[in-house]
Amino acid sequence: MLGVTGFDQNEFIKVHENPGQITSIRFNPSKTQRFEVQAHNCQPIPWSSFGYYLPERPLFTMDPLLHAGAYYVQEASSMFLEQALKQTTDLLAPLRVLDLCAAPGGKSTLAQSLISPHSLLVSNEVIKTRAGILAENMVKWGSSNVIVTNNDPKSFSKLENYFDIVIVDAPCSGSGLFRKEPEAVKEWSDENVMLCNKRQQRILADIMPALKRDGILLYSTCSYSKEENEDILDWIAEHFAVDSLRLAVEASWGIVETLSNKTHSYGYRFFPDKVKGEGFFIAALKKKDCGHFYFPKSKKTNFEKLTKGEQAITRKWINDKPGIALIKMNDFVHAFPGSLLDDLDFLKSYLYFKKAGTLIGKITAKELIPEHELALSGLINGNLPSIELAKEQALRYLRKEEIKTDAQVKGWCLVRYQHQNLGWIKILQNRANNYYPLAWRIRM
Ligand code: SAM
Repeated sequence: MLGVTGFDQNEFIKVHENPGQITSIRFNPSKTQRFEVQAHNCQPIPWSSFGYYLPERPLFTMDPLLHAGAYYVQEASSMFLEQALKQTTDLLAPLRVLDLCAAPGGKSTLAQSLISPHSLLVSNEVIKTRAGILAENMVKWGSSNVIVTNNDPKSFSKLENYFDIVIVDAPCSGSGLFRKEPEAVKEWSDENVMLCNKRQQRILADIMPALKRDGILLYSTCSYSKEENEDILDWIAEHFAVDSLRLAVEASWGIVETLSNKTHSYGYRFFPDKVKGEGFFIAALKKKDCGHFYFPKSKKTNFEKLTKGEQAITRKWINDKPGIALIKMNDFVHAFPGSLLDDLDFLKSYLYFKKAGTLIGKITAKELIPEHELALSGLINGNLPSIELAKEQALRYLRKEEIKTDAQVKGWCLVRYQHQNLGWIKILQNRANNYYPLAWRIRM
């Protein structure tokens, strides 16, 4: 790292020898208002609208609000993505955003909170098991304008000029997390840095065609190595027509602006001895001169619509958010922004969907069997039967244990903790069945 702008060897070593723990979370603005946290002695993260440092690290698994998607536990430096998005893009415009390396979902949940409801987020993860975790976190986040996919970056090269923004939070050698995870030091080697460098190049080569003219590439790593950061910016600028974008950072934030050797591209480095956060690097580039995207002519949106009766059954379960379309796929009702149906149709021929929009439930001749996704979604009808649980009961629910209730309602009922939905129970004559997804239950 000698020679890297902003690297201060003594201070850097010192901060690694005495690793204090920094814990930060980011609120889900569609579920919680920020004033609720200010009361809890949490310091705001200066470059983030929804991020806070916590005075200590709680046992997050035992907080039902985490499972309700009211917040996401995210490292503070990573939340700077917000600045990169806001400073390079009109976030009120309808955008197509791809988060290419998205699991477990930190950047995706953040990007989703910043884009408009008419924008689309494609949240992709190549590793199957990790794509499952990503889908779970996106379900908890509760938004309908997201498609979670499980594809190799290569699959996206066919979507030429399609995305307005591509986020590549690249797999890297991970040195930026050494302070938090000292064990990871053993895995580090020069060879691995160079392997990561080559992999990062391959990922970028695959994805660049999918970015449209004037589209923004946000490239980030949690590595300190120049080979994975500034050298990659040089590689991009040498292989593609791009402009490097300069971001405004306040001096008090402690973020270091760097320039790459060959093409003088701007990068932003987070050193833990200078910022209250872990090691991180991010850069923004704008793509120049290339064609435009048009939907293929033969393509016509071709989703099965709900019959009038099915519409009536389904509408009882959801609120009347404008612009949401209901579509049927194999007897399951999905909600998706109506203005994005062409996109949904187009993308499904190229990508493997783990989840698209909000799965509302299974429709039968007379009723709808609600899905867990609906319970956690912003589309849920606020007047459905619900019971509020105390913390111990909420944890029993999340462990998928039996819930005792003397509620007078029968049938489907939401369970809530501090006014946040956790999921469904079905109240029968003398017991209540717990419908929390088996795979997500907490095992503590
Ligand atoms: N963006 C995530 C977040 O904020 O929560 C973290 C992403 S992590 C730094 C990098 C991700 O890239 C991992 O989920 C990893 O599985 C994925 N990955 C690994 N190899 C990849 C490859 N060859 N192409 C694309 N993604 C890859």
